[in-house]
Amino acid sequence: MQKVTIGIDLGGTNIHTLVVDHRGKVLGRDHSPSEAQVSLRRVIDNVAASAKNAARDAGIELADICCLGVGAAGTVDHKRGVVSEAPNFRGWRNVPLGRELSRRLTRPVVVENDANVAALGESWLGAGRKCSSMVLVTLGTGIGGGVILDGKIWRGSAGAAGEVGHHSIKYDGIQCVCGNQGCFERYAGASGLVRAMRRQGNSKLRGAITARDVYLAAKAGDQQALAALEEYGVLLGVGLANIVNIFNPQLIVLAGGVTNAGSLIFKPARREMKRRALTVPGKTCKVVKALLPEDAGALGAARLALLSKR
Ligand SMILES: [Zn+2]
Repeated sequence: MQKVTIGIDLGGTNIHTLVVDHRGKVLGRDHSPSEAQVSLRRVIDNVAASAKNAARDAGIELADICCLGVGAAGTVDHKRGVVSEAPNFRGWRNVPLGRELSRRLTRPVVVENDANVAALGESWLGAGRKCSSMVLVTLGTGIGGGVILDGKIWRGSAGAAGEVGHHSIKYDGIQCVCGNQGCFERYAGASGLVRAMRRQGNSKLRGAITARDVYLAAKAGDQQALAALEEYGVLLGVGLANIVNIFNPQLIVLAGGVTNAGSLIFKPARREMKRRALTVPGKTCKVVKALLPEDAGALGAARLALLSKR
């Protein structure tokens, strides 16, 4: 029988679960709230229930599943299946998520950081299909990242590698939540775009604006919004150049709502990346948009589960 697996993307708000065959074909799915604010036990119960719902949707028994993979927000000790630290889940410290889920579902469970599995998903079935080395950069409120080198997740010594949002691009820059100053995510996260808009002055956009407001205004021809996106794209390119110089990837895949601005940010970001990066890695690296915005995490978690059973 062909291997069938379940991939779960566990976020602070939602659980996104897919039943997937060995080629990545989706056979069933479930979407549930994680209820991270209620309790640790509730989250684990919800993840187990979501796996069962997805199996039912696919018309299979849990016994037919070879292994489950979970991508969880936070620092994950992949070898032990432990979530060491998770800012989005209150009170989560050294949670043996793999063991607890395996006990409830009576199947093996592998656990990995959510950005790492999203990168694996994009490299398996998305924008990075033909690449052995790529970096996923997710532009949200913060910036997440996952590094795939030679087709594998690069985890670092403690499972914390790939935190590309927290490399500083300005040594005395804006204070970051991580304790550092001038972190990339302060400038190229969604709040960075809003800040770039505020710097324009004389804008019709006032008050509590979002990154989407800036993009929509730019699309409607607002000159200040267009200038803000250009400035934001340049700052994005500064960080991408550092990533290119360190990893020399074939591809950088950008994900997150901000990427809907398309060439308005991709053009200045690519230009600035190439201007700053070393000639060889800068020339050979492409910067493209993610192809699996919704499913990358769950697909990558499923892929990880499949790889673990080889
Ligand atoms: Zn930081």
